[in-house]
Order: sequence, then structure tokens, then C-alpha cells
Amino acid sequence: MTTTNDLVHQLDRQYVFHSWSQQGQLDPLVIAGAEGCRMWDYAGKEYLDFSSQLVNTNIGHQHPKVIAAIKEQAETLATVAPAHANLARGEAAKRIVERAPQGFSKVFFTNAGADANENAIRMARSFTGRDKILSAYRSYHGNTGSAIVATGDPRRVPNEFARGHAHFFNPYLYRSDFWAGDEQEECQRALQHLRRVIECEGPGAIAAILLEPIPGTAGVLTPPADYLKGVRALADEFGILLIFDEVMAGFGRTGRWFAFEHFDVTPDLIVFAKGVNSGYVPAGGVVVSDAISRHFDEHMFFGGLTYSGHPLAMASIVATLDAMRDEGIVENAARIGEGVLGQGLERLAREHAIVGETRGLGVFHALELVSDRESRTPLSASAMSEIKHALLAEGMLPFVAENRIHVVPPCIVSEAEAQQGLAILDKVLGEMSAKHA
Ligand code: PLP
Repeated sequence: MTTTNDLVHQLDRQYVFHSWSQQGQLDPLVIAGAEGCRMWDYAGKEYLDFSSQLVNTNIGHQHPKVIAAIKEQAETLATVAPAHANLARGEAAKRIVERAPQGFSKVFFTNAGADANENAIRMARSFTGRDKILSAYRSYHGNTGSAIVATGDPRRVPNEFARGHAHFFNPYLYRSDFWAGDEQEECQRALQHLRRVIECEGPGAIAAILLEPIPGTAGVLTPPADYLKGVRALADEFGILLIFDEVMAGFGRTGRWFAFEHFDVTPDLIVFAKGVNSGYVPAGGVVVSDAISRHFDEHMFFGGLTYSGHPLAMASIVATLDAMRDEGIVENAARIGEGVLGQGLERLAREHAIVGETRGLGVFHALELVSDRESRTPLSASAMSEIKHALLAEGMLPFVAENRIHVVPPCIVSEAEAQQGLAILDKVLGEMSAKHA
């Protein structure tokens, strides 16, 4: 029997319970195959993937070296308990430590980003003997016990009674919570506010500040230049650990290996997932500083999963990181991201009234859409849905969230693909500006 879009769609609708969805409202796109920055369905309709799926396919789809490494590992050793030493895991950990700044020595592996945050939180609590975790309202840290409570957006509400978490406002000049007029003022006020939150929550009770260096799901909120340094200084002043959640921004997305490298600051724990192996096999983890690592030489760490450091995931990490190094993929993200994409988006923002702001680094950008530039009124959900469908019809797979289009192609995106994506955005934003702005 030939596979068709209808067959896959029907199987999906009948048997699959989707995540983050009201099951009766679904109309998922059928995907049959992919390569590089392109995906297609069974009818041959092609899409330029400007979403990197959930902002994870940094190396693009079906990279042959990664696929080959997974196959080879499957034939050699398809599964092994985390307690055993295994070559692929050692090689993956070594490569990640080598990419981290000085002062990081070990990697704890998990299956995804959320459980990596869980374990980073557990390490911080165990290391400091303190309980509270401070995190930003404008954040997303994953959908498991502590990670969803640390998440600042309203999705944390089902778990709002979990103990040991408090939130603070992070900088977002375009919709400033601090009534700031410029970036410097936003930075100072956000840091003053964080100091007050620390004082009010009791510094002696706070284990860690958990922060995405560039909050991604919340809107690619590039912070003011000195904000993260200011957070580091506050953490040091009060003996609080600093955890950077690099799950979305890490491994090339911003044009550097880690997003925090743009801000001249180093955390105590680095949480990663997504880009480390582009999600070819589920994987995540925590890079642990020397001091915390030494602590756990003498103390038990109560954490781990049956599939922690799964060999297929580890082999895919080794091959991904080697390919990223050998093929200059991080450098490509910086060059195309800023030279072509960033500049192109700036132009679109000037030309189309519907764009309130564009921001981002590397291949990590967001266009914030408004119905009125003066009042910055967010574009309505129905207009955003219309835009999403128009982009799909033009052959772009977009990442649309609230009133934003996140422009997040794979880090391998070529200049021609970036230009093609910009041309599609230009056409659709032009049509929608005439209608909605
Ligand atoms: N942290 C950040 C910054 C994320 O963007 C995400 C997912 O989007 C997560 C954590 C959760 O990762 P996962 O869905 O792999 O559990």
C-alpha cells in the first residue's frame, strides 16, 4: 500500500494522544521525510524548515555522519546501563567538557532538557543545603515536576503549590516591567528588582538562580549587555549558584557554542539538550563545575534514569559535535545569522508596519507583531493563525508563538535558503500589514 498524507493523518487522529494539545482541535501537518533545511510530505509538498522543529535541529535534518554513527552504535551496543563505563559516553562527555569554559570538568547525562533542569536543581540543592530556586517569569524550563514550576509563564500553574520556587521579572525592554526608557535603565532596574527578590526570599534559603541566558520560548529576549554579569555578581554576593539553561540557545544557535559566551560570564552549572545532537536521539545533560564535581566525589548524588547516557544518544552527540567542528557550522550560524538573516529581518521590520520589533543573535531571532506600532498592541491570535497558514502555503515551516514569529532555521542554513525565507516573510508580512496593521 502506498503511504499517503491521508493515511498518516487518519492514523494520527485515531490513535495518537498529542502533547500540549486539546485533542479535538488538532490538524497536524504530515511529514514524510527531510534533508538539511527542508522537509516534505507524501504528496511532495516541500517546506523550508524555519522552525528547526522545536528549535533543536541545529545540524539540519538527516546529517549523514550522525545517521551513520547511530547505525554503527546500534550494531555494536544498542543499550547499556548507566552504571557501566562505555566508550561513546566517555567520548561525548569529553567533547562537551572541551567546549565548556575553563573550570568545568564533568557531564551528567539525561534524556532531555526538562530532566536536565531537574537534576541541575537537585545538584544545587544538595551542594548548597538550601532549598529555593529563583527563576524568571519570562522563561521555559521544561514540562516535568520542578522544571515546570521553575518555568515562569502561566503553564506552571497546574503545579503552583510546589515548594521551593520563587520568580522574578527579567529584562524585556520592548514591554518593560520596569518602565525603563533604554537598555541601560532596563538592566539596572532589573538587577535592583532581583536584589530585592533575593533579600525578600532570604538569601540563606536560595540554592540557585536558574536562567536562560537568552529566554527562547518567551520570545528570544536578548538581555541588555551587562545583565548576566550583574546576575553573576548578585549570586556571588549571596553565595547562590548560577545555573544557565542553554537547552534552546546552546550548541551553535546564537553563533557561539553557548549563548552566555556573548556576555562574558560563566555559570556554575550548564544545562543542555536539543542542539547537542539536534534531537536525532533524545539527550540532554548538565555540565558540572570543578567545585560541584568535587563535592559529589564525597557526597552521594541521588539522581539518574534507566536510559541516562544511552549509547545511541552518545554516539549521535560525538558525531554531531565533530561534524559541527569540522564543517564550521557554528561559524555559519554567526555569518548567515547576522550577515543575512539579522540584517534582512531589520529591513522587514522597517518596511512592514505589522512588525513591532525584531531581536536576536545568530539563527535565533523573533519578530514581534503588532496591530499598532505606537501602542505596541500584540497582533490577535486569529491574525497570527492566518499568518502561520499563509507561511505554510508559501512553503515555510514557521515557529509561531503568541504574537511572534521565531525565525530559527538550522545552523547550517545557506545564504540562498536564508534569502528564500526572507522573501517568503516579506511577501506574507506585506499582505498581512495591509490587512491587520
Ligand atoms: N529549557 C529550555 C530553555 C527549553 O527551551 C526547553 C524546551 O523547549 C526545555 C528546557 C525543555 O526541554 P525538553 O522539552 O527537551 O524537556
